[in-house]
Amino acid sequence: MDVFWHDACLAHDPGEGLWELPGHWPWLDEPEPHPESAARLRTFRSVLRRGPVAPHLRWREGRLADLDELAAVHDRDYLAHVRRACGGPERVAVDVNTVVGPGSWPAILAAAGSTLAAADAVLDGSASIAYALVRPPGHHAQPATSDGYCLVNNPALAVARARAAGLRVAVLDWDVHHGNGTQEAFYADPDVLTVSIHMRHGSWGANHPQTGAPDELGVAEGVGRNVNVELSLGAGDAAYLRAVDEVAAPLLRAFRPDFLVCASGFDASTFDPNGRHNVTMAGYRALGGRAAALAEELTSGRLVLTQEGGYLRGYAALCLHALVEGLVGVSEPLMADPLVYLPDESALCPERTDADLAAVRSALAGHWPELGW
Ligand SMILES: [Zn+2]
Repeated sequence: MDVFWHDACLAHDPGEGLWELPGHWPWLDEPEPHPESAARLRTFRSVLRRGPVAPHLRWREGRLADLDELAAVHDRDYLAHVRRACGGPERVAVDVNTVVGPGSWPAILAAAGSTLAAADAVLDGSASIAYALVRPPGHHAQPATSDGYCLVNNPALAVARARAAGLRVAVLDWDVHHGNGTQEAFYADPDVLTVSIHMRHGSWGANHPQTGAPDELGVAEGVGRNVNVELSLGAGDAAYLRAVDEVAAPLLRAFRPDFLVCASGFDASTFDPNGRHNVTMAGYRALGGRAAALAEELTSGRLVLTQEGGYLRGYAALCLHALVEGLVGVSEPLMADPLVYLPDESALCPERTDADLAAVRSALAGHWPELGW
């Protein structure tokens, strides 16, 4: 497995913040760093370099994207607006929870360019599974709107690259938040299947008009090709794996993609400050195994992953390690889970997951007759 990295991703500094919200909170003795920090990505890198999965990985240099490449997904006026906001010297909040500063523009170009380098490596056959270990994250960014720490939609750029090569593309997004930007980018495209598994959180502002509900199905030729799986709070490993096995995998088999993009967040993990879904290292290990197996079965192994959320820094890093163990197919877990002591809600109350998944199938009724939905 190849990991794509570029140092400029570390230059983006959103400053202080309190979980979802940026800025200074004067009643706190110690300021909280913004959850989407450079330290977070450095920690993700270190666990893959020093952890026991390291021998399975090849590190490759990312690159900076150019404006024409970003314009494959984004409006040029919007890109000019973001670039101006990054002009400094002060930090600027470009929406309710997304902050940029002087180092942000090179980081945006590095995150996008390294994702495109990963996609190109998979397209030209020099990589099979490629992980773009990048920030700022991307999956909330819409063609003309920043959102949720995201400015340029990295997974959507990978999709657009594969579409330009004439391929049908499936997206599987397991970040705990709805992949609304990717949904928006391909809402009318019948050759892109987007599946987002997330907590039921709704919209958080005017810049986030989508709610992530199962009845957001797509428009025009794309109706039925946008799939939202909302899971009940505290979902747990069993709910995530059921969402893949009972919804995402059958849809992918029916859709028959040539290329798979996974938006890979770890904010569904146990105790993540921005999520409530209680997924453990074992869950991520199994998700990695599922993603690799689906790629092997359906896309000749072609799989690109982009780094999205995950904010309990140390544990998110361990979850990344576990996911990569699954992706490379190690037979036994290489690392123990230090936080696995909460009960799995979805194992204790399977009827909650039954209802969540039934709502998805019901919303898709008539659009996937080959599955009986
Ligand atoms: Zn997220």
